[in-house]
Amino acid sequence: MSNAFVAIVGRPNVGKSTLFNKLAGRKIAIVEDSPGVTRDRNYTRAEWLNKHFTLIDTGGIEVGSEELIPSLIKKQAQMAIETAHVIMFVVDGKEGVTLGDREIAQILRKSSKPVVLVVNKVDNSKMSENFYDFYELGFGDPIEISASVGLGIGDLLDKVVENFPDDVDLEEDEYLIKVAIAGKPNAGKSSILNAILGEERVIVSPIAGTTRDSIDTYFEHGEDKFLFIDTAGIRKKKKVDDDIEKYSVLRSVAAIDRSNVVLLVIDATEGVTEQDTKVAGIAHEEGRACIIVVNKWDLVEKDTHTMNLFTKEIKNKLAFMTYAPLVFISAKTGQRLSNVLEKIKFVANQHSTRIPTGVLNEVIGEAMMLKQPPSDKGKRLKIYYVSQTGIRPPNFTVFINDRELMHFSYQRYLENRIRENFGFEGTPIRFNYNEKK
Ligand code: GDP
Ligand code: GDP
Repeated sequence: MSNAFVAIVGRPNVGKSTLFNKLAGRKIAIVEDSPGVTRDRNYTRAEWLNKHFTLIDTGGIEVGSEELIPSLIKKQAQMAIETAHVIMFVVDGKEGVTLGDREIAQILRKSSKPVVLVVNKVDNSKMSENFYDFYELGFGDPIEISASVGLGIGDLLDKVVENFPDDVDLEEDEYLIKVAIAGKPNAGKSSILNAILGEERVIVSPIAGTTRDSIDTYFEHGEDKFLFIDTAGIRKKKKVDDDIEKYSVLRSVAAIDRSNVVLLVIDATEGVTEQDTKVAGIAHEEGRACIIVVNKWDLVEKDTHTMNLFTKEIKNKLAFMTYAPLVFISAKTGQRLSNVLEKIKFVANQHSTRIPTGVLNEVIGEAMMLKQPPSDKGKRLKIYYVSQTGIRPPNFTVFINDRELMHFSYQRYLENRIRENFGFEGTPIRFNYNEKK
């Protein structure tokens, strides 16, 4: 298991968002130049006792349709059941058990997922007067918390973490290329997958995942092993409405999380949508390699400039991932389709490239000579040494005199120098700083 998913479920106003924010704490590292990522964010990375997980606030997903509450709650809970490994079911300790709670409980009980019942708004150490009533919901001992004050959070997380599933080892294979095909409904994700599978005449074995309804597709191509993640969600024909669209973002988040390479499929007839930007932002933040696949190229009226204009628009809207290669394909006619698998192999490789320290420091040294590091109030930034401390994504630790002196623009400059010299096409790059005064 690369990462567990924990969903917060409950009717409106019980304090889900408050709990989400409390658990997210300061850990929400918002990448400044990722538009779309910061807006209506409803998932975050969190950690407890060295276990990392992704927290989903399902409440945040369904906004602005108050009048549809019963069916929305149902959908929300079902979504959580499908995606999450552990569910936090939040109820209001002041109000006691309500009809809405019972309805949600009924849905949750049908799933096999572990549910932790959370009684919120218990703001002092006294027990909620409704405490025993909550046993009726059928999830054993409730955990009492106050999301706003911050009481009981440790006990809650202990119980959540206890319920994490054991590791799934297939995914630990370091040579396996795990691919998530993300994009809007109808962008052509299933067509692309089927076309790749058809074209390459590979032997496909569907592997049922840990999550009900999630089917991965495994195949080998030459020396390479691929796992296309959660392809059931892609292949299944589904009605497209607003809810499904939000749902598909969540589904993409789950798939991206398990992947190393993300195919971001954009419908050429629609261009880059807000949802595309959002999903791209997630892939970027999570440090996945990414390929932007512009599909349905056959439907676009073209002249000599069309591809350039498209490229410009995409580079502009997805300015935070200029590193991602673009391919213009048609799943229908098969145009340039064979490039896709090659590109996947290529970026997966870039994603796990290691640069020897000596060479790296030569490049950094040269970069510093060409452009002096910034200074402030007479003090100049010194870079002593750089070493690559991680892959997937490539991670560089930079030993410097003063963190404050490292401006974003200089980091960008170094990143560009590194890319010019070593490629890293298709992959984000991370920097850590280690101060040595
Ligand atoms: P959501 O709709 O479930 O996401 O609920 P919110 O997080 O928006 O909270 C609904 C209301 O309950 C807000 O006015 C919060 O300030 C309040 N609230 C949330 N947690 C607590 C708590 O632990 N104690 C008290 N007294 N109020 C809380
Ligand atoms: P998904 O929802 O992203 O999996 O999209 P589908 O693969 O189901 O495709 C949605 C619709 O677009 C279907 O009617 C496909 O036949 C059509 N489609 C997919 N790719 C292409 C393409 O490259 N060109 C054209 N003209 N149609 C396509």
